Amino acid sequence: PLGGQVAVITGSTSGIGLGIARALAEGGAAIVLNGLGRADEISATAAELAQQYDVAVDYDPANLLLGESAAEMIAAAIERHGRIDILVNNAGIQHVSPVEDFPIDRWDAIQALNLSAAFHTIRAAVPAMKAAGMGRIMNVASAHGLVASPFKSAYVAAKHGVLGLTKTVALEVARQGITCNAICPGYVWTPLVEAQIEDTARARGLDRTRVIEDVLLAAQPSKRFATVEEIGALAAFLASPMAASINGAAIPVDGGWTAQ
Ligand code: NAD
Repeated sequence: PLGGQVAVITGSTSGIGLGIARALAEGGAAIVLNGLGRADEISATAAELAQQYDVAVDYDPANLLLGESAAEMIAAAIERHGRIDILVNNAGIQHVSPVEDFPIDRWDAIQALNLSAAFHTIRAAVPAMKAAGMGRIMNVASAHGLVASPFKSAYVAAKHGVLGLTKTVALEVARQGITCNAICPGYVWTPLVEAQIEDTARARGLDRTRVIEDVLLAAQPSKRFATVEEIGALAAFLASPMAASINGAAIPVDGGWTAQ
């Protein structure tokens, strides 16, 4: 269904971004990967996606802490492919600290990457989408775009900001065949989480199940992690023509977390 379309996914060298890239490639979209990581691993990932789904896969190493780089990445994608149909703002970082001790440079970096980078890519992509009369913008926010947890002031503020940006852009592009939505995951199964389980189990002397259910998934009623495949499937649906009327929405994928 996405054949002939071009998708740029930020922070897609691992985790949720890679899951979304995979789902969009499966739908037939040409993919622009972005993110940090080892050059050999990234080119192996790109080659594997291209081969498995028979689509073009490029990689742009833009550091999205810099607004200019974010805009240049979009310009380069449009220059290379002549279009941009799907923009997924997914790159993000976290830092956990009481507000009074929160390192100022961490606050600034989290606002820059988790919020401002999405502004810069959207700003650069919307003219081409308007000219084409179609487009799909998705911002990967978080359950923390809807509710807070202590010690995550920068992340929660940025993710709430992402929802504000999402709704505003949605209203601006609503007549032009473009939608802008936020995906709000709860805890998602990534290699990073797997490592956390082993460490926490050792540190607290708990078994794996107790760590997962009582510590990591304390707020997630399902007591299971969402998967990157589930997030990818939602992104693929939002990219499809049948999602044309979903606009300005914040869609939780959180096992019931934000229903509480
Ligand atoms: P991850 O660490 O696996 O992926 C983050 C991606 O961002 C990586 O590709 C990384 O290279 C990239 N990145 C980091 N700094 C960058 C920079 N300066 N410029 C460009 N790219 C950069 O994490 P993830 O869990 O897949 O998270 C992806 C998104 O999902 C984030 O926005 C995160 O806040 C959100 N999220 C994750 C969870 C979860 O449980 N994993 C839950 C809710 C929301």
